[in-house]
Amino acid sequence: MRCPFCSNEETQVKDSRPTEDGTAIRRRRYCPDCSGRFTTFERVQLRELMVVKKSGRRVPFDRDKLMRSIQVALRKRPVDPERVERMVSGIVRRLESLGESEIKSETVGKLVMEALKMLDDVAYVRFASVYKNFREAKDFEELLGELSGEDDNGETGDN
Ligand SMILES: [Zn+2]
Repeated sequence: MRCPFCSNEETQVKDSRPTEDGTAIRRRRYCPDCSGRFTTFERVQLRELMVVKKSGRRVPFDRDKLMRSIQVALRKRPVDPERVERMVSGIVRRLESLGESEIKSETVGKLVMEALKMLDDVAYVRFASVYKNFREAKDFEELLGELSGEDDNGETGDN
């Protein structure tokens, strides 16, 4: 495992034990080059999931990316990393249990918001505001697309 601080590839495992809920192995690692310490989690991956963006583009579901966006929302919040880890595992399990190999990015966003709501109010508001702004920006683009590509067809919307 490469050191995230100095990119040295020879890091050492100092401690290895299951997480509280037994779904992952938590390893504490040490980098002899820069003395950096970091933690990795090893877990079962049941299946490959694809996320379908609003644009229709498909990208492989990336747990680490999801974790990073959640960590941005949780910045400086007093939340135990193991709880965050469990929350993300819960989201992934729910995504997997949908039984679909392709999942809308919207669905992922909704699950994250639901989970954050129970974990930390501040993080929830942060995530929701980013997510909502993003959606509104998209909606706005779509509206512009409609306006520029559509002639007046007589619809007034009130009859
Ligand atoms: Zn290092």
